[in-house]
This record gives sequence, structure tokens and C-alpha cells, in this order.
Amino acid sequence: MTDPAPAAPPVRLRPEIVAMQPYRQGRPAAADAFKLSSNENPFPPHPAVVAAIAEAATSTNRYPDATALLVRERLAARHGVTADELIVGAGSVSILAQLISAAAGAGDEVVHAWRSFEAYPGLITVAGATGVPVPLTSEARHDLDAMAAVVTDRTRLVIVCTPNNPTGTAVGRDEFERFMAAVPSDLLVLLDEAYAEFVRDADAVDGDALVRRWPNLVILRTFSKAYGLAGLRVGYAIAHPAVIDAARATQIPLSVTGAAQAAVLAALDHEDELLATVATLADRREQVVAGLRAQGWPIPQSEGNFVWLATGARTAEAAERFTAAGIVARAFPPEGIRVSIGEAESVPTLLQIAGEVVLDL
Ligand SMILES: *Cc1c(COP(=O)(O)O)cnc(C)c1O
Repeated sequence: MTDPAPAAPPVRLRPEIVAMQPYRQGRPAAADAFKLSSNENPFPPHPAVVAAIAEAATSTNRYPDATALLVRERLAARHGVTADELIVGAGSVSILAQLISAAAGAGDEVVHAWRSFEAYPGLITVAGATGVPVPLTSEARHDLDAMAAVVTDRTRLVIVCTPNNPTGTAVGRDEFERFMAAVPSDLLVLLDEAYAEFVRDADAVDGDALVRRWPNLVILRTFSKAYGLAGLRVGYAIAHPAVIDAARATQIPLSVTGAAQAAVLAALDHEDELLATVATLADRREQVVAGLRAQGWPIPQSEGNFVWLATGARTAEAAERFTAAGIVARAFPPEGIRVSIGEAESVPTLLQIAGEVVLDL
């Protein structure tokens, strides 16, 4: 079914905004279905997190701390930086938007891999800048040489997503260091590490270790995935203080709520328990990848909490079969399907349907 052409708006708007497809969320799952479409953490929040939110709710008549100082100090200590090298935002997507706006406007270019995180093209358009998507390699990995090669005088930002959403592949440490050495030292490079906690490949890049070495590097992390706080909207970035100041200048004031700040502090108090659930999910990912490969799927090595099925032209049809069996996955026709690693109970159904679908490809 094709969407009807959008009606002309009753007021004058930026044409590139009118032409945009509004963000479509992963489909709401039927009550008895497994929602494996948004890379959420299937474990419920820690009781201490729930208690902290309830406690914070009693001061909802007050504005939150505008710079989330307690959270910044806590995270800064953990990452071995100072609080002015770190910004907290209403989800890491907010900080991404802030940094794109801070770096790139009309006539400027933002380089990113494709297929990658579906939010990138829209955020670049909203900033008034031009996206330069660079195709992934045949192994569904970032092609960093090709990305460096399209950098021009107009390039203001390069986004590197590792592990890459939706293919799961991680960028290697050595190739990333070569890339940083190849691009201009005054070009901002953003390493989107939304799934960093799920990475097991010892050769994968870890932005944490590099941020002070490259003043043009910013790393982006989130509490939405590993920490299971997607509904509260908290992410953070670490970079040179001047880059952080620029992100602060483009932030919508007071957008990180007091409840969200309290919840993050409680989550960090119980980090060991939370990271144990991350280990469980990474183990489950390995089990799913092994099962799919045994069926003949050419699964790229996933370092995130999701796997990529290259269903090509049959993507929409394959996604329907998962839905009919009670698994809501994310289809990106005509390339493939991203399936999140969710509840243990979802794995047998996932493997059963995948085993049927692979025979028809
Ligand atoms: C999920 C995701 C994010 C972050 O989301 P927030 O909930 O806004 O922190 C950022 N980047 C990528 C690649 C993601 O998949």
C-alpha cells in the first residue's frame, strides 16, 4: 500500500521539512507478541530505579537541575574525565541533534554510513545541512576509507555508528585510528556507541579510550539500551569542553527531567546487577547468531543487542511471517530485518520462523 501524497500544509513551512517522512516507531506489538523492534532491554527496571523515580515524583513542581551536575560528576568519574567534558541530554538522539546543529548548517555536509541508524538523515535535514550517505561494505560494515574519501571543505561532521544499527557490525580499533589520522584534525567526528556495553570483540574500537587523544572526537552513549531506561530518555556525550559547550548552546533548556536524573543515579548504584543482564543478553545473542548461521543465514558478527537478517527483496513478506508468529521485528525493505535480542522465551519462535524463511529466500 502506498501512502497518499501529503496534502499541502495551510501555512508556509520549509519545503525540506514538509517532504520528510515523519519518524515511524516500531509497530506496537499485540499483547501476547514479543516486541523485538526497538532494541529495548527486555528486563524490567531495577526496583531501586523505580523507587528513585517515585521519590523524584514528589518534587515535580520544581524544574530539574539544568546541567544534571550530579549525573555528570558521576559519569565523569567513571570515564576518567571532568564534568565539563560531559553533557547529559534527553536521550542520546537529542545530543546528536544538538551536535549536528552546532556543527552543520545550510550548505554544509554530514557524512554517515548507510544503512545505519534511521534517525541520521532526518536530523541532518532538520539542521538544514546535507547528508552524504556512504554505503556499507558487502560485509555490512562501515567503509571508513570511502567515508574519509568523501570528506571535502564542506564536511562539518562525520558520524560513525559502532556497533552499527541495524547490521550489528563493530568498527575495529585500528581502522578507526587510521580514519582519525586521515581526516582533518578540525573536522568533528562523532562515535555513536549506543550499544557499547554489549560489545565482546576485543579488537573493536572503544571511544572511551580515545576521546582525550583526539580533540575532534565526541563519543555518544545512552541509558536506553544496556541500562534499560529507554522510557526515561537519558544519554550523554564526552568530548573536548569546547565541543560540549557547543552542544549545550543548542540544547533545549531543562529537557532532562529530575526523575530521569534520579533514575540514572540509582541505576549507576546498581550497575553490577544491570551489567549482569547485559551479559545474559550478549550470551543470548551468541546463541541466536549460532542458531541462525546453522540454518544458513549469512549473519554479520553482531556486537549489539540485535541481529540482522539480509532478507533483500523478500523483506516485507518475511517480516509478516515473524509478525504472524508473534514476533514484531523491524523491517527495512528492500534490505533486511533487524531483530532485537529479547526475552529467552522469544528465541525458539525466532529460530523456528527464521529457519522457515531462509528456505524461501
Ligand atoms: C537507540 C540508539 C540511540 C539512542 O537512543 P536514545 O534513546 O535517544 O538515547 C542512538 N544511536 C543509535 C545508533 C541507536 O540505535
